[in-house]
Amino acid sequence: MADKNNFKTLISTLTIVLLAFSYAAKSESQHSQLIHRFQQYLQINTAQPTPNYMPAVDFILLQAKSIGLDVQVLEYVKSKPVILLTWQGKAKSLPSILLNSHTDVVPAEKEKWVHEPFSAHKDSNGDIYARGSQDMKCVGLQYLEALRNLKDKGFVPLRTIHVSFVPDEEILGRDGAQMFVGSKDFDSLNVGVVLDEGLASPDENYRVFYGERSAPWWLVVKAVGAPGHGSKLYDNSAMENLLKSVEIIMRFRAAQFDLVKAGLACEEEVISVNPVFLKAGTPTPTGFVMNLQPSEAEAGFDIRLSLGANAESLEKRIAEEWAPASRNMTFQFKEKEPIKNKLGVPLVTVANHSNPWWTLLEAAILKVGGKLHKPEIFPAATDARFVRRRGIAAFGFSPMANTPILLHDHNEFLNEAEYLKGVGVYEAIIESYASYMEAVEDRDTLSEL
Ligand SMILES: [Zn+2]
Repeated sequence: MADKNNFKTLISTLTIVLLAFSYAAKSESQHSQLIHRFQQYLQINTAQPTPNYMPAVDFILLQAKSIGLDVQVLEYVKSKPVILLTWQGKAKSLPSILLNSHTDVVPAEKEKWVHEPFSAHKDSNGDIYARGSQDMKCVGLQYLEALRNLKDKGFVPLRTIHVSFVPDEEILGRDGAQMFVGSKDFDSLNVGVVLDEGLASPDENYRVFYGERSAPWWLVVKAVGAPGHGSKLYDNSAMENLLKSVEIIMRFRAAQFDLVKAGLACEEEVISVNPVFLKAGTPTPTGFVMNLQPSEAEAGFDIRLSLGANAESLEKRIAEEWAPASRNMTFQFKEKEPIKNKLGVPLVTVANHSNPWWTLLEAAILKVGGKLHKPEIFPAATDARFVRRRGIAAFGFSPMANTPILLHDHNEFLNEAEYLKGVGVYEAIIESYASYMEAVEDRDTLSEL
């Protein structure tokens, strides 16, 4: 008897070991498939200014079909496809969930990277190098992997889940998210809450963004004046007047930056002004004419306003001090978006327990072992501004902890383990959002600053 029992025990132990092995092998191969799909998406070169969107569309549609999502490709502007995927929920009348990401990436200076920026090379640490690995092809595919896992688990959503892949975010989203969010297609989705991009966090806590600084104001100031010989001393040359302006603008910049350096304000609470180009001089094949004072000179600035900034007073300052007519100066905005909505208030999504979308998000992240920083204001503009302007709740969140912030930088990478963890985080969030029964009123989710 004893022998028979021992034999039985041995068999069941062996079975458990074999099962454990096969499970580990299965999950190992699933993980490598997930990483492979991420690398495939990263290898598609969708860098501005000439993003190759069509291969990205084909790839996303292939994934969506393999998961079993409904697919649509919307083209508000020719060759700028918006991909919309849908998993229909049981309760069609409840507002839906929209998971947004952008398909384009910023350009990369190949020679300054350790690995080719569109090779998606994975090194021995599991770091995957590619333009878009953080901003934000990771998020787009993590959404899809999370949906794939939820389908496999037999999950049935109550609320409808939409996933959008939009073009041109890196060039302000005019032909992408702005067109989409302003469309009848978007109205018909009855969106209740949107997830969009956030930023990596160098420590173990994830970051969530509930609002953002203004979209850029791109200012060009121009000075004109009489040209003159390089040896002549005279007042009001174009160069003299432009440099005076640059000096005044840089003083303003320093005053704002000092507040940050002194710890009196965070970066998103001040107005940033950064010079981005200077244009003057008469070119020659090898440089510039050196004995001629030019008749025109220009400088360009990227300005970001904090949510509480007074736009009118800044505009007055630009007209009176930065580019005054009295110094033969003019100015022009290449880009300028309002920082407030139609009602004159800057809108942010409520990030406390009075907003159920926040409560669910926080709980889902904590449930899978994630940790969170206090919610923050995003320092730049994202597509989320278009939905917030419509009064819809939106959170910026890219699940990348223990990761240096490398968006738009050389050698952008994301570790495979962080990527896989992020898929689990989205699974938890989507499951929770799509199962939420209660009605959520818009007034619960938005607040004035
Ligand atoms: Zn981005």
